[in-house]
Amino acid sequence: MLRPTSVAEVVAAVRAAAADGAALHPVATGRNWGLGSRSPVRDGATVLDLSALDRIREVDVRRGYAIVEPGVTQGRLATRLTGTPRIVNLTGASQNAGVVGSLLERGVGLQRGRTEDLAGLELVLADGRTARTGWWPGTGRTAVRPHGRGPSLNHLFTQSGWAAVTAATVRLLPRPDSVRVLPVLLDEGQLERGVESLRGWTEQGLIPPTTKIYDPVAARTYGTPGRHLAHIGLAGDADLVRATTEIVSGRLRDTDCGLGPGPAHAADPWVQHAYAGGADPNDTLFLRKTGHCARCLDQARGLLLFLPIVPFEGEAVRRAAALTRSCLVGRTAAPGITMNVLDSEALDHVVTLGFPPEDAEAVRDAHRTLDRLHESFAREGFGVYRTDIDHPMTPTGPGPDTAVRDLLGRALDPHGIFAPGRH
Ligand SMILES: Cc1cc2nc3c(=O)[nH]c(=O)nc-3n(C[C@H](O)[C@H](O)[C@H](O)COP(=O)(O)OP(=O)(O)OC[C@H]3O[C@@H](n4cnc5c(N)ncnc54)[C@H](O)[C@@H]3O)c2cc1C
Repeated sequence: MLRPTSVAEVVAAVRAAAADGAALHPVATGRNWGLGSRSPVRDGATVLDLSALDRIREVDVRRGYAIVEPGVTQGRLATRLTGTPRIVNLTGASQNAGVVGSLLERGVGLQRGRTEDLAGLELVLADGRTARTGWWPGTGRTAVRPHGRGPSLNHLFTQSGWAAVTAATVRLLPRPDSVRVLPVLLDEGQLERGVESLRGWTEQGLIPPTTKIYDPVAARTYGTPGRHLAHIGLAGDADLVRATTEIVSGRLRDTDCGLGPGPAHAADPWVQHAYAGGADPNDTLFLRKTGHCARCLDQARGLLLFLPIVPFEGEAVRRAAALTRSCLVGRTAAPGITMNVLDSEALDHVVTLGFPPEDAEAVRDAHRTLDRLHESFAREGFGVYRTDIDHPMTPTGPGPDTAVRDLLGRALDPHGIFAPGRH
């Protein structure tokens, strides 16, 4: 493992690896839990731990961006923004998880996909050159526009492993005047109907495309075990939030919509605080979800994530749940499933397999379950949107963009220095 403390040291590490034909596996805060954390895909790679590059280089709350290095955690950025007119789009992971890592993995935040937060990247390329993509502050570049004009290059470096990222310009959201997370229970007898109602409300703009649906196992975290729970996050102008709350509450009284109001404790003040981009030094929600602190999780708990994209349709949600159950091997406990609305077409599913790490048989069963999930979902045409180190490629094989990818990969990292096998 190498732990550089400056961009110059990253450049030196990359040049040395290029000269030796060695492999580097860059990580930011290394909390890619359930997907391999900081482990490389292949043995023998050197982990390039960039967590010591941990400066918040700049914050501009007027124009709405922050320039952060890979070691900056989302909790630190949230703390820095306390009392300002801006917030960071927090994810549901720990406050001690990073900002840059989840951007590069194309993670999901509470307000929107993390891809929307990415404005610019600072890179060390495979030949040791430094470069920038996307939007950076400077003369004549006042409003933050990630795509600018010409080819839009930021996302060549997300989920690609074609460079080491030493900083990112992250877009900040306006601090909403009002935030309200509505807890909603789905009627177990007409689950499909409930999902379809949420889809319809999303399609027509009644609710934002940020709803989370928790299956009965995942809903335990919020005190509604045995029931599907949804969190509808409303944020913005106070009158609008109030009016939308009234409209949604009215619709929930109609039993035909397959939805009903949930108990207030299912979206308690900590949930509301997270949607409001609030800092939480005690990591309250994360402790509640996992039972462990961010530093302890890798040792204390076996955890595997399976992350397929499923159409935002009642029938597809039912099918994905049945498919998941059919894949369980041996003593593997029923996983929790969180469904994140991405837009009115798609839900990303987070299927969380937990197991005791000291029990070899349980470890084997959980990994076998994960293999089966990959195989079964691929057979039904549900692709994954984020991969783990044991399943770096989807089993469906080459995709429509393989030729262009190969071309770019050969140009940017011809000797495969960065994260070989990862993407
Ligand atoms: C309870 C729980 C809840 C979670 N909730 C969410 C959620 O709501 N949303 C979500 O997206 N995820 C979630 N996760 C998954 C995961 O923990 C987070 O996405 C986490 O932020 C990723 O870890 P990190 O930020 O430390 O990234 P890292 O582990 O540092 O990086 C992730 C990957 O990005 C690449 N990478 C990182 N930094 C660099 C770099 N500088 N240069 C080149 N490549 C790099 C590498 O491939 C690396 O493996 C959750 C996990 C748990 C356990």
